[in-house]
Amino acid sequence: MEKLVAGIDLGGTKIQAVVLDRERVLGSARAATPQEGADSVMAAVVEAVKTALHNAEASGSALAAVGIGTPGTIDVRGGVANAPNVPGFEKPEPVPLAAGLSKRFGGIKVKVDNDVRVAVLGEWKRGAGRQFTDFLGVFVGTGVGGGLVLDGKIRHGLGAAGEIGHTTVKPGGRKCGCGRDGHLEAYAGRRMIEATARRWQSDGRKTKLFQIMKDKGRDRLTSGVIAKALDKHDAVAQELVDQAVWALGVALSNAQNLLDVEAIIVGGGLGDRLGKPFIDRVAEAAQPLLLVPERPPQFLPTQLGDLSGAVGAAVLAAS
Ligand SMILES: [Zn+2]
Repeated sequence: MEKLVAGIDLGGTKIQAVVLDRERVLGSARAATPQEGADSVMAAVVEAVKTALHNAEASGSALAAVGIGTPGTIDVRGGVANAPNVPGFEKPEPVPLAAGLSKRFGGIKVKVDNDVRVAVLGEWKRGAGRQFTDFLGVFVGTGVGGGLVLDGKIRHGLGAAGEIGHTTVKPGGRKCGCGRDGHLEAYAGRRMIEATARRWQSDGRKTKLFQIMKDKGRDRLTSGVIAKALDKHDAVAQELVDQAVWALGVALSNAQNLLDVEAIIVGGGLGDRLGKPFIDRVAEAAQPLLLVPERPPQFLPTQLGDLSGAVGAAVLAAS
């Protein structure tokens, strides 16, 4: 029987699991992240993997290894700390995620890494980054995450390499989720886009964004809500997305001038949802700021979409 690996993308609201053989995704499953604490989260991860195995028509005994990507800081033993959105993993004291899951999976090997790094790994080994040895992955979602492949290796730095969301695009500009001013994430991250839309609305500007949100049964401005408002030519949505494009153009041209990578792969909830037209606009905004404009990086969408993280975690497990 062929051995399979499972990959999990653990987030504050959802758990995405996939099961892979050497090349393909054979099965997947998605579940809501329990809000009760670490034990419930780990139990739900195990259930999601079981469901993914079932959907792959495979049994638990086929499972050779498990990988998991999570927000927060990861220690060498696979303990997770400082993950503000994941119930039970918020504190500065690490929770032993790798050991806890390994025990629940009957002793098989479990590897843990940062969620953005595993998403970059997924796109590199199974997605849009396959032909490159140097690229930057940017995930424009609730926040803006990033990861680097340089000289054919994932760049860790001192532990926080690739955090392009917290590079400055406008000194003294809009407040970022991290508390500082003028970062890329303050203009392109969904959470800050929503905060800005609410502020503009309370200042008297008219927008359909919040009506679309209600009509869709949502309680936040999802990428889908923003996309729909753009389709309806909502001026506030257009201006917010224009600013996101501008900010990404500034940050990515700076990154390119520093690193001279072959490609910049743009994903995340908003990047995936708005897709190639959005990414083309970002490339256009970056172009005049490039030191070597005649040789720009390729600006590409992800190939794995919202499975980048889970597939990357499975690749990590198999490594
Ligand atoms: Zn920031």
